[in-house]
Amino acid sequence: MSKRDYYDVLGVSKDAPKEEIKKAYRKLARKYHPDVNKEDDAPDKFKEAKEAYEVLSNEQKRTQYDQFGHAGAQGQGFGGFGGGAQDFGGFGDIFDMFFGGGGRRRDPNAPQQGADLQYTMVLDFEEAVFGKETDITIPKEETCDTCHGSGAKPGTKTNTCSHCNGSGQLNQEQNTPFGKVVNRRVCHHCDGSGKIIPEKCNTCGGNGKVKKHKKIHITIPAGIDEGQQIRVSGKGEPGVNGGPPGDLYVVVQVRQHEFFEREGDHIFCELPLNYAQAALGDEVEVPTVHGKVMLKIPAGTQAGKTFRMKGKGVPNVRGYGHGDQHIIVKVVTPTKLTERQKELLREFNEIGGNDSTNEQDNSIFQRFKKAFKND
Ligand SMILES: [Zn+2]
Ligand SMILES: [Zn+2]
Repeated sequence: MSKRDYYDVLGVSKDAPKEEIKKAYRKLARKYHPDVNKEDDAPDKFKEAKEAYEVLSNEQKRTQYDQFGHAGAQGQGFGGFGGGAQDFGGFGDIFDMFFGGGGRRRDPNAPQQGADLQYTMVLDFEEAVFGKETDITIPKEETCDTCHGSGAKPGTKTNTCSHCNGSGQLNQEQNTPFGKVVNRRVCHHCDGSGKIIPEKCNTCGGNGKVKKHKKIHITIPAGIDEGQQIRVSGKGEPGVNGGPPGDLYVVVQVRQHEFFEREGDHIFCELPLNYAQAALGDEVEVPTVHGKVMLKIPAGTQAGKTFRMKGKGVPNVRGYGHGDQHIIVKVVTPTKLTERQKELLREFNEIGGNDSTNEQDNSIFQRFKKAFKND
């Protein structure tokens, strides 16, 4: 089944402001939440709306989606969002999310999503054009295998901090001339975690996480360009208290090419020709990223003339065809001439090199000469 466009799912326009997206999602969430809607397709509808909202409400993810769509980042990034398939959260959670459930978010025991990671990948010109499959190694935190993230030695227990009753915060009452003032501060007994670990895990020292070098497979889509990024879902830092992991963002930089220059999906390239080729015409071999192609140069080709080679550019990253290659003619004046060549050029000049019999050329040179005489 093909995925629906996220904007269509929420029923908003592509340039809808954040507020409108939030409103649209709220309406759908209220309608389809499995706690209130018992119809068979409600869970799917709810999930679809939630996924669309998660992407479009996050600026980074939205830009990514606008750039690549579902197809551009196939197989990565736009798969399952936000944890298990049946994990809808309580009905109340949705509203906490919008009405800023204050204290809840501060709860150190609540599941928290892990941090996002960023990785810069430098690609060769051709690699960006054709895409590639590659493995990268990044240093990242992983949930400790020994204690499965609890930080406690296997077989021992984690206790709720008795000083703050697991809230991670202490209320401090102060008497002031204006009455009692209550200050909230991070509990120093448990460092705000709300937990005390009597016997710490030997592997991670009670942290619940260990630093590891992790190999991650990355698919670079063909046609990606400088500055664009790929989101690899769930490959960021692990979550806290069973929360989902963060995402990995791979930011792309592209090395300059010796001959090719890129503008969007089009490639530009200069073609050096000598006088004779430009004047008499020729058939020359030109490089493209897709291999060498023969190009017919018509007689009388002027410097700066551009030839378009349709479809010889970069494949569109969203799958909309190919760009073109543009060949810009550069007529190169020879600097080292043999006696014979000089002789021929002198002869060419004597029989009227510039003032050729060609009427059009004639008029250009006549006008040019006149313009300077009149000055
Ligand atoms: Zn551990
Ligand atoms: Zn505490």
